[in-house]
Amino acid sequence: MSKTSEQLLVLENFIGGKFVPCRSHIDSYDPSTGEVYCKVPDSGEEEVEAAVAAAKEAFPGWSERSPEQRAQVLNKLADLMEANLEEFVQAESRDQGKTITFARNVDIPRSAHNFRFFASSVLHHTTDCSQMNHMDCLNYTIRCPVGVAGLISPWNLPLYLLTWKIAPAIATGNTVVAKPSEMTSVTAWMMCKLMQQAGVPPGVVNIVFGTGPRAGNALVGHPDVPLISFTGSTATAQRITERSAPYCKKLSLELGGKNPALVFADADLDQCIETTVRSSFSNQGEICLCTSRIYVERSIYSEFLERFVAAAKKWKTGVPSDPANNNGALISKEHLEKVRSFVALAKSEGGTIHCGEGVDQLDLPKRNANGYFMPATVISGISDSSRVIQEEIFGPVTCVSPFDTEDEAVSKGNNVRYGLSATVWTRDVARVHRVAKRIQAGLVWTNCWLVRDLNLPFGGMKNSGVGREGGKDSYHFFTEVKTVTIKH
Ligand code: NAD
Repeated sequence: MSKTSEQLLVLENFIGGKFVPCRSHIDSYDPSTGEVYCKVPDSGEEEVEAAVAAAKEAFPGWSERSPEQRAQVLNKLADLMEANLEEFVQAESRDQGKTITFARNVDIPRSAHNFRFFASSVLHHTTDCSQMNHMDCLNYTIRCPVGVAGLISPWNLPLYLLTWKIAPAIATGNTVVAKPSEMTSVTAWMMCKLMQQAGVPPGVVNIVFGTGPRAGNALVGHPDVPLISFTGSTATAQRITERSAPYCKKLSLELGGKNPALVFADADLDQCIETTVRSSFSNQGEICLCTSRIYVERSIYSEFLERFVAAAKKWKTGVPSDPANNNGALISKEHLEKVRSFVALAKSEGGTIHCGEGVDQLDLPKRNANGYFMPATVISGISDSSRVIQEEIFGPVTCVSPFDTEDEAVSKGNNVRYGLSATVWTRDVARVHRVAKRIQAGLVWTNCWLVRDLNLPFGGMKNSGVGREGGKDSYHFFTEVKTVTIKH
């Protein structure tokens, strides 16, 4: 670990198996105190060029290895991550603001599991074959790695989402140049320290740190990077799509959400309220799958609202290291201000703020007085056309409103430009089938939330994304298919 005289952590790029210092740096903040604690390389074209060159050089050797050989390396990386779990947990919490508990239960175990999952999954895919007897032909498909994969990830689940891309990319024989969010780069840098020990050959995984407009843009515009897997905001995805269009790159885009919960009168309310509080506020509401619009059948609306607000008030926000807290700090001052501005907008439009921002005071230690904390906030009385309902807030804020019929519930659920996930609360199986078909979302959870089978497709429709990731989908995305015809 490199430190300056002010004891700041100074990160370096990881290129061709070596840590390479960068000339200029960006400040990175501890969200729970508002203090700068880390310097992140401010990479640009030069650094990206070096990383792509290293990845290109490593490609022939890595892609020629068998899936089993590559899987061994991925499993070793998972072992090492698990052996250093607590160090990663502390770092992720400090860098992102999330609670230690969340990092320990979700981020880091899942990051290790991503490697293990794709190490196993890559061994079990089959390709297609078809006979054309009348032509004396046999047709079959083969799949080959694409080349150098460009991977760009956001700040909300830093290592979790980065490994969700690196693991399938290298399992299928590609080499990668990854760029994590400039706001949360530390755990990616720590992972680089494990690469050699895990047996990852130099150049197979390169990580270039820096901002989107400099490092990200250079990666997306590099002619030798034929594939970009991006997770982040819809606005950035639009820029990436434009920038990569002249090169006809393969794109996977996992974007924002404005996810509805549809609560019908026959729902198990205890289970629904407990889960919907979690789905609205977990990780400070900074999960693309978080519920931010709750539509409740009118006959149970008052009861639901009262009980939901009572449960939200018990969702504790405070110092990330305290296991009693459910939420820590938001990612940045700017983001906190943005999230607060939506609550102010709701108020100015006549909405009711039942709890949270402006209603409940947080009790924070002096040291955390400048941290970016915000309590779980519940709003009602907002019109469907309001920006509060239409735009992704990406914070601990959720809106509740009533509906009268199933048609109305579905239409309200679909009335936004996003289509990532939805939750449906009902005991009526026929209704589950009807609503799941009609709701515009890539993921529909019934009577649960965030249950993930990594074999199945993950991703959104409409402005929430293009393409899907997961077992077979990632395999397809990170490989090129060829159809081979043999005439005999
Ligand atoms: P962002 O779009 O601002 O940044 C994401 C990444 O893109 C960062 O690494 C950033 O540096 C980079 N970037 C920014 N501009 C770029 C450019 N011009 N060219 C190349 N790269 C560029 O998103 P964020 O604020 O980091 O993350 C929050 C967003 O991510 C939310 O909208 C959230 O819903 C979404 N998200 C989606 C999923 C999903 O799976 N669908 C998961 C997590 C987060």
